[in-house]
Amino acid sequence: MTACAFDLAHYRELLEAARTGSYRFSFFDDEPEAGDVLLRHDVDLSLDAALQLAELEAEAGAPATYFLMTRSVFYNLASEEGEHALARLRELGHRVGHHAVYPHLDLDDRFDPVVAWHNPDPKFMSEPLDGVVNVMSPPWFAAGRYRSDSNQHWRSGCPHEELAGGELEWLQLLTHPEIWAYAGTTMRETMVAMLDAERERDLERLAVDRIDLS
Ligand SMILES: [Zn+2]
Ligand SMILES: [Zn+2]
Repeated sequence: MTACAFDLAHYRELLEAARTGSYRFSFFDDEPEAGDVLLRHDVDLSLDAALQLAELEAEAGAPATYFLMTRSVFYNLASEEGEHALARLRELGHRVGHHAVYPHLDLDDRFDPVVAWHNPDPKFMSEPLDGVVNVMSPPWFAAGRYRSDSNQHWRSGCPHEELAGGELEWLQLLTHPEIWAYAGTTMRETMVAMLDAERERDLERLAVDRIDLS
């Protein structure tokens, strides 16, 4: 196993580790059971990064739940790109939840009834929601059965060894696609790599928008 880099190669190794540990990939529609790994992705910044990870997971036979924003300043879910991302995620066998900006719940038929708050505050983070799963409320959230890659920092360590060894009863694994899809050994480097890629895409978007770039 290589060092725990935040790149697609190690993400693939994480999925393989879960398979080695005989875990099954599950969704948030049922309460977690022993042997479940709930792959959760909060898509904060880049639909393109989400699709890269989604394709990799589909190849690896690892379905996940992607939480998409309706109020992002970085992407527009109602745009053609947004609709394409939604459709492709579904096609690949993933679920789509709502990454909501408190206190706004914009749940509609684009989403499964499952919510993850963006930048949650402890005072509302774990509050149960009516008729909708809040992924940070019990039983989907439990101490010791949750890992997150926030800002390229695993608070309790990268779980690949524990997964391979079957040491965790079950796990909710939150990863942010941008962190893994773009190269960088620091969060800043990774974000700059993402912005460089987005700049290229912006040039294409301008051309599609009939802007004269000659
Ligand atoms: Zn690792
Ligand atoms: Zn977020």
